[in-house]
Amino acid sequence: MTEPNQPKTEVTDPDTLQYQLLDAIRRKSSATMRELLQDKNAPIHRATVHFAASEHYPEYVFQILVKYLAKRRKALLKLARESLPPEQLESLGVLPQQNVLDSAAAPVAWALKALKVIDDSQFEFYNPDHVWLSSATTVWSLVGCNLRAAHVLHEAGFQNVDEVDQMGYSPLAVLEIPSLMATDHINGQSLASGLSDALSRYLTMCSWLRDHGASMTRGCGLAQATPMHHIGRRFGQCFAQLVGAHCYAFQGDGIKTMDGVINKLTDALSPLKPNIAILQQIAVNMGPCDLYLCACAGGGCLASNTMLNEMVKGAPVPMNVLIAVFQRIIAPAGSTVTKVFQEQWILRPILRACTFACLKLRHSCQSASLERFRVMKGEGGHTDDYMEQLVALGERLYREKGGLAMWKFIILWFEMLEHAARDRNYR
Ligand SMILES: [Zn+2]
Repeated sequence: MTEPNQPKTEVTDPDTLQYQLLDAIRRKSSATMRELLQDKNAPIHRATVHFAASEHYPEYVFQILVKYLAKRRKALLKLARESLPPEQLESLGVLPQQNVLDSAAAPVAWALKALKVIDDSQFEFYNPDHVWLSSATTVWSLVGCNLRAAHVLHEAGFQNVDEVDQMGYSPLAVLEIPSLMATDHINGQSLASGLSDALSRYLTMCSWLRDHGASMTRGCGLAQATPMHHIGRRFGQCFAQLVGAHCYAFQGDGIKTMDGVINKLTDALSPLKPNIAILQQIAVNMGPCDLYLCACAGGGCLASNTMLNEMVKGAPVPMNVLIAVFQRIIAPAGSTVTKVFQEQWILRPILRACTFACLKLRHSCQSASLERFRVMKGEGGHTDDYMEQLVALGERLYREKGGLAMWKFIILWFEMLEHAARDRNYR
């Protein structure tokens, strides 16, 4: 898990206002902050917002910073509307209904400077950063999974949580699971609890952004992967790690049966339950697919393909255990999703992910862990007829078994796949 590329806060010159503001945030000195922001017009860089949201977060400190940020962005918007024609406002990304500038703040400040509406010192005051390319990025990319900071931003008027950056990615499409820097990776128990907490925080933030207007199906970047693909990928990776960490922690507990392992894992992962709705949405989605072409999905990947591919690829435990726990968590008995799991096409992504892994095929999609632009549609994409036949066979057999638990079917399926893989090698 990685944090996104965030603006750096390495400001070393104590004479600069930016340094003094960072120092006041670090010392939690609200009086000094107000003096710097109000009387001295200290610039508010993106790095400063990120620093206050992620590293030094008493809420009152962040509230002061955001209050002044919103005030400046409103003033900048007013100047822009007074000075720039409607068509230029539109081309700069200023929306008619907007009452505070977010991702368009930097281009607007540059445009106003070019027209000499603002001078150099005002430009410094209004522009969110010195670096052009990254400076247009929305404030929503600066708070990570800090939900309280998100509330503060929203209440201050930053209400469009779905503004895209210059590459076409929305904040939800690039949100990352918090890193585990402080976690003890040697001790399995603390790794498991650290991962569980990080994943819960991540899914809570994803749900909040979705509930406040972030699209789950927006195609982002050249590959047109959606936020659902991104969340599915991150969840799949973390879930596999989490199951592995819990298994490690259980060692010596004397669990004898597979049912016992699955029950214990399901209990251990119950903290994920409050955020299950967003995972159910991903697991049963019907599209859109991304533009990668890979045998793992028989074409473009659905978000469910992505989630299961990552889960199976990263699994340090038998796949039937992983699938069984996944199914128990996101489709508990009696839920509407249980029926979907049993009868609809979620079966197919599960069979595809397991069959692909067992045949040891190579991904040509984003699951290849390659740099994203190297495996675009048409560059190395392929299908595998043998795998297609096996998946169709798996679907038919599962239906013929009528009601057999998925994880028990996966055991049978793997025995068949091992024969099939050997058979293929001799052909
Ligand atoms: Zn693939």
